[in-house]
Amino acid sequence: MHRLTLGDFELSIFSDGTYPLDGGAFFGVVPKVMWSKKVSANDKNYVTAGLNSLLIRTGKQTVLVETGMGNKLPDRMVKFYGQPAKLLENLAAGGVAPEDVDIVINSHLHFDHCGWNTMRDKNGKIVPTFPRAKYYAPEGEWQYARRPSERDAISYISENYDPLVESGRMTLLKGGEEIVPGITVKTFRGHTAHMQAVIAQSAGKNPHPSTSAGQAFSQNRGEVGHPNTACYISDLIPTTAHIDVTWGMSFDLYPLDTIESKKQYYARAIPEKWLTVFTHDPKMPWAYVEKDEAGKTVARAV
Ligand SMILES: [Zn+2]
Repeated sequence: MHRLTLGDFELSIFSDGTYPLDGGAFFGVVPKVMWSKKVSANDKNYVTAGLNSLLIRTGKQTVLVETGMGNKLPDRMVKFYGQPAKLLENLAAGGVAPEDVDIVINSHLHFDHCGWNTMRDKNGKIVPTFPRAKYYAPEGEWQYARRPSERDAISYISENYDPLVESGRMTLLKGGEEIVPGITVKTFRGHTAHMQAVIAQSAGKNPHPSTSAGQAFSQNRGEVGHPNTACYISDLIPTTAHIDVTWGMSFDLYPLDTIESKKQYYARAIPEKWLTVFTHDPKMPWAYVEKDEAGKTVARAV
């Protein structure tokens, strides 16, 4: 169980399971001789990708960032990706019922990020999975998803968001908004034009984050005067293996912007010691990104 406190917030990771992705597609132009040192592939060249959602309990609200792949994939996609659909049972095991969730935020609208936004009821009607929740997603993503390019049209499944927009349950964001006190969104262009990271900041009474067991895991992190910050960076840096600015996915629509956005992110996240949440890392869902002695950008485990 991945859980920690960040100021007054409690953060937990809940997974929708794992799925296979082509290793070449996952690491773009990076040669296999290089990426295979970090991640192993099977005989079909598939690597394992995670589906990590971040649950933030602010003390007032329960906020779920991203909803995995869900259980509505069409058969032609199940052939490639399977359909783990573990999020609800993992939430339940952590004591979270669907009606406990007040707010759902999607970084973008690809099928592996908003799949559990909705589900079919027993009559086959699409309904919100989280019956009390207000949903948020980037407006530009939603506009694009209505007329995607041939290149990534398969990534958009309108049942995950259109019924919510039509019923007024989903608020569309420009980028930069504060959703609840301490939780904001910021656009990072690269993977798509409008993908938004979700940033949680809470200085709290105790400026040092500690584990749920109560033991401090660092005494020198999060200097006093700096709010403690976590960022769900989504597909800008999908796993700890993608930390190098040049290691982008071939799925990225704007690979040169991915590089610039990563630089922009690190310019704050490294000096301010942000906790970075990795959406597709099957083993390390969060870590601190740092520069090592050689100046190389690396992940340090929490
Ligand atoms: Zn993704």
